[in-house]
Amino acid sequence: MKKLFPFLILLFALRVVAQNAIAIRAGAVVDPATGSVAKNQVILIESGKIKEIGPNVRIPNGATTVDLSHEWIFPGLMDAHVHLTLTEVTGGNAPFESFYLKETSTYRGLRGLRNAQDLLRAGFTTVRELGNDGNYATEDVRRAIQAGMFDGPTILTAGKIIAPFGGQSTAIPAEQGPFWRYEYIDADTPDEVRKAVRQNIYYGVDVIKLVADNSPFHFSVEEIKAAVDEAHHAGRTVAVHVYGGEAADNVIEGGVDSLEHGFFLTDEQLQKMKQKGIFLVGTDTPRSQLDIEGTSGGFFPPPEVLAPKIIDRLRRAYRLGVKMAFGTDTVIEVPNKSRSDLMFEYLAVWREAGIPNAEILKAMTSNPAELLHINQQRGTLAPGMAADIVAMPGNPMEDIEALRKINFVMKDGKIIRKP
Ligand SMILES: [Zn+2]
Repeated sequence: MKKLFPFLILLFALRVVAQNAIAIRAGAVVDPATGSVAKNQVILIESGKIKEIGPNVRIPNGATTVDLSHEWIFPGLMDAHVHLTLTEVTGGNAPFESFYLKETSTYRGLRGLRNAQDLLRAGFTTVRELGNDGNYATEDVRRAIQAGMFDGPTILTAGKIIAPFGGQSTAIPAEQGPFWRYEYIDADTPDEVRKAVRQNIYYGVDVIKLVADNSPFHFSVEEIKAAVDEAHHAGRTVAVHVYGGEAADNVIEGGVDSLEHGFFLTDEQLQKMKQKGIFLVGTDTPRSQLDIEGTSGGFFPPPEVLAPKIIDRLRRAYRLGVKMAFGTDTVIEVPNKSRSDLMFEYLAVWREAGIPNAEILKAMTSNPAELLHINQQRGTLAPGMAADIVAMPGNPMEDIEALRKINFVMKDGKIIRKP
């Protein structure tokens, strides 16, 4: 008995592990990083992570098996630019500011949770939330997901947006006071920028979001550098909303991690981004959504002019070899369409810009994982990586629209939906 005892413990341990294990019989596994396809694989998942993947993986006794032998398997998708808690009012005379005048952070958080769940079911297992979430509402959405109250994607948060005086509001009468501070932090010197970065980090953010050119005045190189220095020392990246011009020069010179939007970037600016390894998160809005959002307010040309400019900028960025991550910035609601439906409409813009499917798929997985500094944990399917796995009936390398048909989602080893 004495000699048998360690053996029994081992048997018991194996049995526990096997009960916890899930084995996926995969028809084909697509690797976005290399563009390769491996047929008839088994993916063994234990404790939320991929343990083994290959054609001859032994399935332990007691493991749950999932038959996806007629499906194409892919890493969970990522969107590097979302606003989970925000719905922008479109049409009529509602000003941009109305969302933070009319909605509490609690209400915003509930909307954020709904959107987070919708995105996860559609296959987005990681999102980077870039602010406009009331009083840090997304921190609570994330906390509830992490506590196991709800299923949801991995969320990286930015908290309050840091901007020169006024946030993204315009011409609000002085009598009303700086009410935009519900969503934004005013910062008008390098020291104020540093303080704002520290405040956000104190409240738990992963990313610092700046808005650089929403006003006739914009951040200087020194202010951008202060944000980057402070954020990088705390292990955080810096994402900057900027469309082009001198503000974009300052942002690029300042050494940020990603430019958001960048609709009017020149080839010279894109080349500098490439040299510095700065990502473009182009939020390349399709014409159909520009028509709904409208481009009034004097900042943008009309949709029929802006839409081709966005496609052209995406094409130039790709040809010049700028690192790119998929980001949608979807903040509108359309009857009978979910938020994820609207996000998948962005794929048409990438297709029109002539970007190969393999590159689009990288921009939705391994590239954002690099930008978000989570590429050791997520973004590819390999032993040791988190089991964030999606599957669909068609091959996304051949038809990128196959992503809309995702019918299996696993998040950190938990099955969220099955065909
Ligand atoms: Zn945005």
